[in-house]
Amino acid sequence: MTSLDEEELKKLWERTVERLFREGIIKSEAVRRAFLKYPRYLFVEERYRPYAHVDEPLPIPAGQTISAPHMVAIMLELSELKPGMKVLEIGTGSGWNAALISELVKTDVYTVERIPELVEFARRNLERAGVENVHVIPGDGTKGFPPKAPYDRIIVTAGAPKIPEPLLEQLKPGGRLVIPVGRYHLWQDLYIVDKDLDGRIRKKVWGGVAFVPLIGEYGWRE
Ligand code: SAM
Repeated sequence: MTSLDEEELKKLWERTVERLFREGIIKSEAVRRAFLKYPRYLFVEERYRPYAHVDEPLPIPAGQTISAPHMVAIMLELSELKPGMKVLEIGTGSGWNAALISELVKTDVYTVERIPELVEFARRNLERAGVENVHVIPGDGTKGFPPKAPYDRIIVTAGAPKIPEPLLEQLKPGGRLVIPVGRYHLWQDLYIVDKDLDGRIRKKVWGGVAFVPLIGEYGWRE
């Protein structure tokens, strides 16, 4: 495909967003607005921009992926984000999901990425997109990010072999963790994990998903 100008990219993106909304994958006005404010083409390398509206994962540096728009919408809707919530994301990748979260919570967002090249990639993308309240933290997100804990929401965008204990500990009572968990590297069930006000943990499975592995002390071993 020859390179498209910004106007054409914007039109293609708007069509994708409207389709996701019509199909009920994007459910709320808030998520719809966030998608329109931060189009996916701002978070991929130049050569992938013409494909950013396609509802599939796309490559980002270091052999990782930016998730498909429908998957990001599903996880954001399941997270039920509200302004003022303190959110931790694990797996910054391109920074796109963190930008969307920041638009929904309208406050600081913390996101952890283990691959230094992606920490830089995400920071560049976020700066170019004009996102100021996302803090990209280099490190192993399976240990969470204790300095800002506890969190109202923790959203994990890589597949874990089991729910990392530190993430449960860093969740507020009344908080929610959304995380893909599976026995295989590339296939998982998407779990919604709620911590009751009395600290009890309740788990529900939303359905099958396919994420790159969560690698770290409480994840897959390298
Ligand atoms: N949320 C991202 C976005 O909006 O582009 C997509 C995330 S990509 C599917 C998964 C990311 O998780 C990769 O960038 C990978 O390096 C990262 N990752 C894997 N294990 C991790 C860990 N233990 N801590 C932090 N990041 C991790």
